Amino acid sequence: MSDCIFCKIVAGEIPSKKIYEDDEFLAFHDITPQAPVHFLLIPKKHIRNIMELEPGDIDLAGRLLNKAQELAKEQGCTEKGARFVINCKSHGGQTVEHLHIHILGGRFLSWPPG
Ligand code: 5GP
Ligand code: ZN
Repeated sequence: MSDCIFCKIVAGEIPSKKIYEDDEFLAFHDITPQAPVHFLLIPKKHIRNIMELEPGDIDLAGRLLNKAQELAKEQGCTEKGARFVINCKSHGGQTVEHLHIHILGGRFLSWPPG
């Protein structure tokens, strides 16, 4: 999608600090990190949010979760864990309309959110 920030990152039109890339997914550090580990994992396919995943995306969604787990481990979160967050639309606090998982770790994160 031409006016999507994350599609532009996928296309290399906006720079990012990549930590992983394959044909299907891209992971990069969040520009405003909220924890010592804070990166975003996105499908390269433009899906606006988790509500718009379609039945045909089920396999992709499974691989997305699997990759989130793998990268969290690689980033040092195996022992103490991490938070995996998917914000959706305005009440969910979503600011970029391209499906993404936040992976946050490296410190204790309180709950519930404000
Ligand atoms: P959301 O609020 O939609 O769940 O999360 C969007 C995230 O994208 C925010 O944490 C924000 O800091 C991050 N972000 C927004 N623009 C950019 C950018 O151009 N580059 C990177 N690396 N992160 C971005
Ligand atoms: Zn997009």
